[in-house]
Amino acid sequence: MSRRRVNRVATISVHTSPLDQPGTGDAGGMNVYIVEVAKRLAHLGVEVEIFTRHTARDQPPVTELAPGVLVRHVTAGPYEELAKDELPAQLCAFLSGVLRTEAMYEPGYYDVIHSHYWLSGQVGWLAKERWGVPLVHTMHTMAKVKNLALAEGDKPEPAARVIGEEQVVDVADRLIANTDAEAAELISLYGAAPERVAVVNPGVNLGTFQPGEQGGARDRLGLPRDAVVLLFVGRIQPLKGPDVLLQAAARMLEADPSLRSRLVVTCVGGLSGAGLCQPDRLRELAASLGIEDVVRNEPPMPQADLADWYRAATVTVVPSYNESFGLVALESQACGTPVAAASVGGLRTAVRDGITGVLVDGHDPGDWARALLRFTREPAWRDELGRAAIAHASMFGWSATAGRLAEVYTGAMVENSTLPLVANQ
Ligand code: UDP
Repeated sequence: MSRRRVNRVATISVHTSPLDQPGTGDAGGMNVYIVEVAKRLAHLGVEVEIFTRHTARDQPPVTELAPGVLVRHVTAGPYEELAKDELPAQLCAFLSGVLRTEAMYEPGYYDVIHSHYWLSGQVGWLAKERWGVPLVHTMHTMAKVKNLALAEGDKPEPAARVIGEEQVVDVADRLIANTDAEAAELISLYGAAPERVAVVNPGVNLGTFQPGEQGGARDRLGLPRDAVVLLFVGRIQPLKGPDVLLQAAARMLEADPSLRSRLVVTCVGGLSGAGLCQPDRLRELAASLGIEDVVRNEPPMPQADLADWYRAATVTVVPSYNESFGLVALESQACGTPVAAASVGGLRTAVRDGITGVLVDGHDPGDWARALLRFTREPAWRDELGRAAIAHASMFGWSATAGRLAEVYTGAMVENSTLPLVANQ
């Protein structure tokens, strides 16, 4: 009897490509997760092939993202971006492209499927049954959780998505939860079998996000050395609460008018979706609050550039209504900058309240202003949090995430197979 190990993973990412720039549209933490994990799995000797939708005519069918990591573009629908709510109609075409790819190889080419977000889970469901391999699924966001705490102006997620997610939870061999809290939600809200839920923390690229001198970063970015920099990083969408930051900044100026000459509120990121957080609506909000002179918007940028923004910030502000984890919070801490985050979801794991930052209950601008003012008034305390933040973030490398995922894949394969397996070391 031959022994088997995890040789090759089929990663499914229907709605967003690992080649996209995160921080705008549908590209965010999930894209970062898929890329970072794939590269580190490849270091462990596990090849990763990422299936995503063909969104431009000039994209080659296959691209090497890194040694051992391929991106396969599957034709499903037009060669252009499609809104997420149009993608369910393309899942059959996408699945057929995935199955045709596998059919070019020997049976057993892929050992395991890892799907990301429910649309990919639907594809993984049928591919798993066709290939006889386990399906590992990560939700990234959950409709039922999102609907419990909607931002003002945000639409509830439709029943079709809820049902689609429930189906994937039912069929997946393993569900990856980012935190214990997410595991509990999968079990209580979706009825997931506890023995199929594995908690695997995401990570941070500790090579890119390193501490550095705040003054030097400010010089490079053209910010005054004595500025109070409130930093928001992420997609501009209601769920992320950038409007809460603007309202809090206005309250800070009411409480301490002397701040006006030093306050810089920077939002790094691009538009995602419609509604309250369209850039012109945010500009209107800033104007109506009388703070347009302190607000600065920066377009989405590569992580190497983002690192300087984190280093330059007094505090990174994450006022989200929900976060499965919140990579931005961890990246800021790795750069030595404490975080003020909403006390929701994975942010409760990503930030240690009172030690590496503060967790704020609710979204009342007055509460946020009070929390943020403390960072301006107590620099020694802020620096102490920053030092603890570096230590905290250092415990979340992506290699640990990939190593743990390889174990989960092996566990799912053991259950699925009569052959003994060897570990990937
Ligand atoms: N990001 C980026 N450039 C930008 C803005 C964001 O690379 O201009 C990245 C950021 O570094 C982080 C990810 O986008 O890794 C956002 O992840 P997070 O978990 O905070 O939010 P999500 O997008 O998953 O809601």
